[in-house]
Amino acid sequence: MNILFLAAEAEPFIKVGGLADVAGSLPPAIQQVASNDHIDIRVVIPFHGALQRQSLPMHFVTQVQVKHYPQYVEAEIYQLEHTGVPTYLIGGTLLSPNAPVYTSDSSLDGIKYTYFSMAALELCKELNWKPDLVHANDWHTAPALYALKVFKEPFFSQTGKLITIHNLPYLGHGAADALGEFGLPPAVNSQLPVWAQQLPLPVGLYAADKIVAVSPTYAKEILTADFGAGLDGYLATRQEDLCGILNGIDYSLWNPKTDQIIKYPYDQDHLTNKINNKTKILQDFNLSIEPDTILIGMITRMDYQKGVDLAIQALQSIHDQPWQAIILGTGNPVLEQTAFQLHLQFPQRVRSVLRFDPGLSRQIYAAADLLLIPSRYEPCGLTQMIAMKYGTIPLGRATGGLKDTIIDNQDPSTWCGFLFDKPTPEDLAQTLLRAIEAYRNSNLWQKMQLNAMNQDFSWKRSAAKYFHLYQEIYDRYHDQAE
Ligand code: ADP
Repeated sequence: MNILFLAAEAEPFIKVGGLADVAGSLPPAIQQVASNDHIDIRVVIPFHGALQRQSLPMHFVTQVQVKHYPQYVEAEIYQLEHTGVPTYLIGGTLLSPNAPVYTSDSSLDGIKYTYFSMAALELCKELNWKPDLVHANDWHTAPALYALKVFKEPFFSQTGKLITIHNLPYLGHGAADALGEFGLPPAVNSQLPVWAQQLPLPVGLYAADKIVAVSPTYAKEILTADFGAGLDGYLATRQEDLCGILNGIDYSLWNPKTDQIIKYPYDQDHLTNKINNKTKILQDFNLSIEPDTILIGMITRMDYQKGVDLAIQALQSIHDQPWQAIILGTGNPVLEQTAFQLHLQFPQRVRSVLRFDPGLSRQIYAAADLLLIPSRYEPCGLTQMIAMKYGTIPLGRATGGLKDTIIDNQDPSTWCGFLFDKPTPEDLAQTLLRAIEAYRNSNLWQKMQLNAMNQDFSWKRSAAKYFHLYQEIYDRYHDQAE
């Protein structure tokens, strides 16, 4: 079975958010699950400027022509060396070396990612490698699925189409013209609402044989007006093809026992080392060392989705309680400013670090007692899973993957986190008070830490579910042909 796996970012090469974690670890996990069956899974990502500036070991593979009406544009394709899963980079005229992975100019991103999607299909033809399935992720690579459906090229007559939704509201607004420029017409005969007929994610969903949302709860939520981004009605017509598969994390990368960055490695049996990491980070940040005060961490994109504003207001409202906080995040300047205000307001107990810093993120996972994830919506979320592995108790909003992974049942044999319902500072503050109360009971807290560390969010189960889906789609196309 040949699988073409397309994504905008992939670890360990380029990362902005959780999509990179998934694109980096799901393909090898599927390869492992399928070890007895033949599977040839290949990952393709754009040759982003940030990658061009590194000297990654790679070799030139080929050049392809992409129809960009009324002409053709070239794309150059490279293959990275020493990757377990073959990984290609697509670069060329329309992939500016100066462009970040995502820009705020959606029309520019529209052209870049449609070009990338189309070039990835050309690559298959150039290599004479027929994919049995194209697995697209989010709006950036959705045009590839739509192109397969529209152009019906004989080369791809047995190619199935799967899309994973990591974040539904990012539909690819502003990319309508780009689709047209690459010859992709509006999906007029679909059940899609008119406004969605020429946007990348909706047309990709329309083209897809199967649709995966990244958690079972998110798969249900997107059928409602609150979470459906205007597509809930359409998705309801596709319920038979829609399912939720929880993302996993790669424990070879996220493990406090083997983590090279943290000063004091630890596991369930050496939790005192976690306290040493806490002391160290408090020293590093020049915060007072108060073992009885809960240290709250936050590691997040600064986006309204993530409820950063709720967190700041809730912390302000419980300023009379004992807590310290370290916030790491970058993104929306208004939210960055709000987080920095908290730092200025409570210089004796808050630090806000406004950058993308994977090393510091690991130190926070290892040092914090509690990780705050007050997302307004959270398709899956990886930070709560990483936190649990590091014995850091997650406090999240009861939505999407947070609801599917955080057990808040007050049963000491399984209790491992805190959930709140309403996306309000008040509800969050109440739940923070619950966490502070639980933290005062060190036996209970330690039990919760062990419960959290014993959870298994490895890719194995989810990769098996994806592989099963791959087989289902494969059978559909191959039965049809017989
Ligand atoms: P999303 O993909 O919506 O941003 P996830 O929880 O799925 O959220 O994944 C976020 C990933 O990005 C995690 O691996 C987290 O550790 C990492 N991350 C987020 N913000 C930062 C930051 N400022 N510095 C380093 N890593 C970050």
